Amino acid sequence: MIDLDQFRSDTRAWLEANCPPEMREPVRSEKDACWGGRNPDFQPGQKEWMDSMASRGWTVPDWPTAYGGGGLSPAETKILREEMAAIRARNPLNSFGISMLGPALLKYGTEEQKLEHLPKIARGEIRWCQGYSEPNAGSDLASLAASAEDAGDHYIVNGQKVWTSYADKADWIFCLVRTSKESKQGGISFVLFDMASDGVSTKPILLISGYSPFCETFMDNVKVPKANRVHDENKGWDVAKYLLGHEREMISGMGLGSTGGNPLIEGAIATIGLNDRGELADPLLRASLALFEVRSKAFTAMSERFIDELKAGQAHPAQPSMMKYYGTELNKTRHELVMSAGGSDALEWESEASAGGAKPRAWLRTKANSIEGGTSEVQLNIVAKRILELPGA
Ligand SMILES: Cc1cc2nc3c(=O)[nH]c(=O)nc-3n(C[C@H](O)[C@H](O)[C@H](O)COP(=O)(O)OP(=O)(O)OC[C@H]3O[C@@H](n4cnc5c(N)ncnc54)[C@H](O)[C@@H]3O)c2cc1C
Repeated sequence: MIDLDQFRSDTRAWLEANCPPEMREPVRSEKDACWGGRNPDFQPGQKEWMDSMASRGWTVPDWPTAYGGGGLSPAETKILREEMAAIRARNPLNSFGISMLGPALLKYGTEEQKLEHLPKIARGEIRWCQGYSEPNAGSDLASLAASAEDAGDHYIVNGQKVWTSYADKADWIFCLVRTSKESKQGGISFVLFDMASDGVSTKPILLISGYSPFCETFMDNVKVPKANRVHDENKGWDVAKYLLGHEREMISGMGLGSTGGNPLIEGAIATIGLNDRGELADPLLRASLALFEVRSKAFTAMSERFIDELKAGQAHPAQPSMMKYYGTELNKTRHELVMSAGGSDALEWESEASAGGAKPRAWLRTKANSIEGGTSEVQLNIVAKRILELPGA
């Protein structure tokens, strides 16, 4: 039986000794997130922090050690997260491998697939992207048309994906393809391939925020070994849905905001100042912030319960939709408040003082939160049908 108090004090001491000072600063822009991969763009401290955490398996603390994880129990994982939050430590590695593909491989992958891919995800060596959406398959994902034709020991994949986040920077893709036209959901397979394969190309799409985080992805006679198919042929929809639950859980985490302190309130105080009673001087903004804080605390408590239920296998399968809906709405409100608190200065778009317009760009980016990973309307439909059991239209 592990002594959790001892684990906490050891963890605290280790984090204190190993988390570089730069990695305790708030994340201000996209560049502050570390994604690893074959062609990383490390900022000072990022590689050191990622490697130190990976050496203990703490980029994926609750994965088994055999696959590069830390083998921590849920209670230890929670302590690690709390201790990281206490020193405002940044997430050492942002990764669709960790938040999406990993859980799907742990459930559906073969032992070879797990040993091949999971340790590289844990060490940040391979960056993954998600090839689900197509020009005619978004909310109605199962109508996807990218085809995988049987060619013996491999498939020949043709078609187009769209909105593929960071496809131009990713090393590998997990991709939904059609292996049969006999059935809509029952004709889909889940395959993995290297983005450097012959026939794969990407074209970035520019967003309103000025960033270009996603692409159109084209597959032109791409050879994909059958050994790279996860789960049975035509059973990819099971893997896809399971992964989507984890994606929605990850996106809902946006509602929790950054770790440590309260940058929103601290920022409002810095810009607007306090009245002589020591309260934020703008009463309307103060009321909005108070309401937001109450909702935020309720969401944090609900998230903790949800994660515990998920780990215990007791979560309702539609619960990630509820969390995703509320978490993304909360994150959008947070950034509205950051803009309100910042006044006209918060609209500054390019200057060095504004960190290249970090605030307005982040605010505009949140507009996509209620679309990515499945739109809010679709999440509400799922909650209505599967949790509230309301009759369909
Ligand atoms: C920032 C961002 C990153 C993304 N990254 C990826 C990625 O990495 N990989 C990937 O595969 N995809 C990605 N996507 C795509 C995303 O999953 C889709 O945009 C999303 O599923 C919606 O599909 P769509 O854009 O085709 O919209 P549509 O499905 O065409 O929906 C259009 C509108 O109709 C509404 N609607 C549709 N069906 C219903 C219904 N049944 N009931 C009520 N309303 C409905 C929707 O809510 C929406 O408002 C990303 C999207 C964004 C914004």
